[in-house]
Amino acid sequence: MSDDATLGDVPDSAAEGETYDVVREDRQSPEDSFAVVGNETRLAILRVLHERVAVADRTEYTVPFTELREAVGEADSGKFSYHLNQLLGEFVEKRPEGYAIRYPGTELVRTVKSGAVAPTESAVSEPTTASCYLCGAPVSVAYTNGYVSAQCTECPGALGFDHMPEGTLSSIPVPGGAVGDDIDAAPEALLDRVHGRFCHRARTFGDGSCPRCGGPAESGLRECPDHDPSEGPCAECGTSMPATVRVTCEVCSEGGISPPACMVTHRAPFREALAGAGIDDLGYDAFALSAGWPMRVVDGDEPAVEYDLAAGRVRVVVDGDIRILR
Ligand SMILES: [Zn+2]
Ligand SMILES: [Zn+2]
Ligand SMILES: [Zn+2]
Repeated sequence: MSDDATLGDVPDSAAEGETYDVVREDRQSPEDSFAVVGNETRLAILRVLHERVAVADRTEYTVPFTELREAVGEADSGKFSYHLNQLLGEFVEKRPEGYAIRYPGTELVRTVKSGAVAPTESAVSEPTTASCYLCGAPVSVAYTNGYVSAQCTECPGALGFDHMPEGTLSSIPVPGGAVGDDIDAAPEALLDRVHGRFCHRARTFGDGSCPRCGGPAESGLRECPDHDPSEGPCAECGTSMPATVRVTCEVCSEGGISPPACMVTHRAPFREALAGAGIDDLGYDAFALSAGWPMRVVDGDEPAVEYDLAAGRVRVVVDGDIRILR
């Protein structure tokens, strides 16, 4: 948040003449956020207040002191006040009728919730009905240490970075809570959800904005001069593709690499190509089609790749931002 964020943070009702305790002047650092979630009582206070936002109208989410203390289950009023005071300002605001959570507090609770229920360290599903974009064989969905992958059951796959098992076709970081027990219970749905999310995020990055924090993101073409995918992912660049896009958020460093086409499937003529293949939502099939489109690196002044689509030859220039030339 910027230094003037408190200006935009004042609730609507402030205009109606209600009074508020003075917001603490000092902005909290990320380290302070970890200190908040590292304490059980403080986290419990945020959870109770967040719960209230989820069930109530925005005007009704203020919780009186005693009710809040009882809901948290802290008998010692002095100890409870101490922890509540630590949260005032950045995470919680004091209103005449009680306490309400602020947006950064909500974000903290969401982070804890989404990361909370991680599945086992690694697991692989039975083969699904989805198919490999390189060889057409069935793919399994795998979860390893925070990453969900599509894994080909027959060919060496498209990605050969460190520690990736043979057959890896994608490797997408996903908070454990979103995976749950779906590797066993609903592998196809998990595969679609995770790759659909990847496609959405790749498009947002493709438009120059970070899907995580909204900061500016910069894209560059990652070309492989000695590309050799004849026996699986190239040992030089780690992928089966002659070029990928590396994108990084200038603010929060979120980013990674993506097949170029995945970042522009919402732009003409790629969106028409997707529709022409009968794909009208973003899931594994949209990912597989755009990752599998044959491409070649252009030998020219600007870093670019070319695709041959039904609409003709299309050039994708990746030079800080991403442009499509026809
Ligand atoms: Zn395959
Ligand atoms: Zn960011
Ligand atoms: Zn290579």
